[in-house]
Amino acid sequence: MAKLGNPKNTIEILNKYKFVFQKKFGQNFLIDTHVLDKIVKAAEITKDDFVLEIGPGIGTLTQYLCENAREVIAVEIDKALIPILSETLSEYQNVTVLNEDILKIDLKTLIKERNNGNPIKVVANLPYYITTPIIMDLFERQIPLINVTVMVQKEVADRMQASPGSKDYGALSLAVQYYAKPYIAANVPPNCFMPRPNVGSAVIRLLLHQDPPIIVKDEVLMFRLIRASFNQRRKTLVNGLNNSPDLSFNKEVIMEALHSLGLSEKIRGEALSLNQFASLANRLSELN
Ligand code: SAM
Repeated sequence: MAKLGNPKNTIEILNKYKFVFQKKFGQNFLIDTHVLDKIVKAAEITKDDFVLEIGPGIGTLTQYLCENAREVIAVEIDKALIPILSETLSEYQNVTVLNEDILKIDLKTLIKERNNGNPIKVVANLPYYITTPIIMDLFERQIPLINVTVMVQKEVADRMQASPGSKDYGALSLAVQYYAKPYIAANVPPNCFMPRPNVGSAVIRLLLHQDPPIIVKDEVLMFRLIRASFNQRRKTLVNGLNNSPDLSFNKEVIMEALHSLGLSEKIRGEALSLNQFASLANRLSELN
């Protein structure tokens, strides 16, 4: 089987199987070898690695992963792609394709059975309609992970990597940075895909923290505070938290907590670091 990753071989295999792109599955296949090399390099894949690929498509990135990793599991939702993958991956002995929805599959059991529960690497050119649910699901389900290297919309990558004070900083930045250290490895223009997406893309690597970067007693409360302050971005933090239907702190308590942390009562949520949100959550649970 010829190597994919270029327009000619991609069109050839798509025509052979009369494949019809499904918009609902966010199908934009990679056709640029430089980008494929960059993804594998950013993920630091070696022959020791067990890699989960989300959405292999026709197997373009999968071929690269099979050549560089010890073992690859590729989870693809579209059953029309399964016979194509049998052909494009036929020469690799170290790959298993599963026709499943990544959000429904029991990854913990799979990793226990196939990799003795040891941490894995995740690599994907993600379907853009469910980028955030997929990433947050991996983190929140506490899947044993070394790193997650994914192609996402450029705008989403910028939000994940943003720091306090920047216009891109928000709940997604804090949620991602609570679990991992982001690094944008490449910006990728629409002409590297077939069909071309309407937006620019970027490869982002999320390196999982081995120890939590902050100590927070009540994680749920911290994320409620984060959501409440960014839902009402233009309000002061005091008003944002006070108005939130998910929280029940009165203004005085919120102001007392802010004072005790040395923060102004006029401060907006977008100025707070992850550390400060954690301290605020810790202080508010003490005061309540
Ligand atoms: N990896 C291929 C490439 O780079 O050329 C295809 C990437 S394409 C952007 C996204 C792939 O994810 C598609 O093959 C799509 O069918 C698959 N997909 C979409 N939703 C999925 C889901 N919930 N679970 C598993 N795969 C999914």
